[in-house]
Amino acid sequence: MRRANVKTKIFDISNYTEEVIRKADVDFDPEAVDMIEDATDKLKQAANVIAKGGLVVFPTETVYGLGANAFDPAAVGKIYKAKGRPADNPTIVHIARPSDIYLTGRDLTASTLKLASVFWPGPLTMVVHKRPEVPSITTAGLETVGVRLPDHPAAIELISMSGVPIAAPSANLSGGPSPTKGRHAIADMDGRVEIILVGADSRIGIESTVVDMTASSPVVLRPGFLSAADLAEELGKDVKTHSSLVDENEASNADTDEPPKSPGMKYRHYAPEAEMYIIEGKRPDVENEIARLRSLNEKEGRKVGVILFDEKDYVDAAHDFYAKLRELDDAGSDLILAGALDRGDGLGFAVMNRMMRSAGHHVIRV
Ligand code: AMP
Ligand code: MG
Repeated sequence: MRRANVKTKIFDISNYTEEVIRKADVDFDPEAVDMIEDATDKLKQAANVIAKGGLVVFPTETVYGLGANAFDPAAVGKIYKAKGRPADNPTIVHIARPSDIYLTGRDLTASTLKLASVFWPGPLTMVVHKRPEVPSITTAGLETVGVRLPDHPAAIELISMSGVPIAAPSANLSGGPSPTKGRHAIADMDGRVEIILVGADSRIGIESTVVDMTASSPVVLRPGFLSAADLAEELGKDVKTHSSLVDENEASNADTDEPPKSPGMKYRHYAPEAEMYIIEGKRPDVENEIARLRSLNEKEGRKVGVILFDEKDYVDAAHDFYAKLRELDDAGSDLILAGALDRGDGLGFAVMNRMMRSAGHHVIRV
């Protein structure tokens, strides 16, 4: 893809953490005060870029985001250009405090407000009816808008200083794995945005759970760290999972008749450059099959990478999955063999949703 000729400033704001903020504000620790002043200055510069219609990459707890003023259609247009993102894939609008949902959403239900009070800040995007002030490009023409309050002090401060909600998809080139480390965001966005804010590695590592709150019972459109069961428990009512997510063991969404409700879900997505296969079955069988395929392919001179997460340790799997894809691509892998995760587990289901797309729905069952 052609690189835009933007001179990108890369700012390290990894000191801007709850812990250092507390040390500065409560303990008046001089070193912490300096760190926070320095990071605040960088965040201010980034906020100015947003306010003036430019692009900023910023860390969140899920993955790195590529942000612009959500109310400025020209600025949001730059997001699509920088990512090479299809125009029918909406952005998520990020806010700095729960009540700012009223800036972009209308006709909010009691369930929406309840989930906001329980899970925000956090990895939950709620799709609600949009206010007319939200330009159509921000929602890719939809009459609904996805809204989220990220659980990351630098992200919240950036949004707050900008004075506007920030529209942001993940900060990767369209189709590739989402960035969970500063260097991933730099690899994809250097030369395309005004500022890249580099924080610590993303704490969660997969994108937010997206739930449609406009139907009578909420529907999960994209699984994430928070499961449908987590949401249902708080609401005391049923939360459905969109059928395209449940059926996708067999075929890609693009092949089914039902139009995807969450537009981003239909594309080949999160994909490494290497060809990728998922091996699914009992653990010893999976290990044997991976070993067999590995030696077979290596004999033919192909470089093979393996992704095999600890069984049941899906927090680590979520945290490391995208980084692992990028690492194997960087190592020049021709083929990636990945062990399937248990889809019966909430987080296993969420990581498998990404893994299936990364692998173009190539599954070998053993
Ligand atoms: P990204 O942050 O790159 O994962 O992209 C945002 C994703 O949020 C989109 O691909 C959609 O899946 C979802 N999304 C955002 N807004 C809406 C909406 N109004 N309706 C349904 N899904 C949405
Ligand atoms: Mg994305």
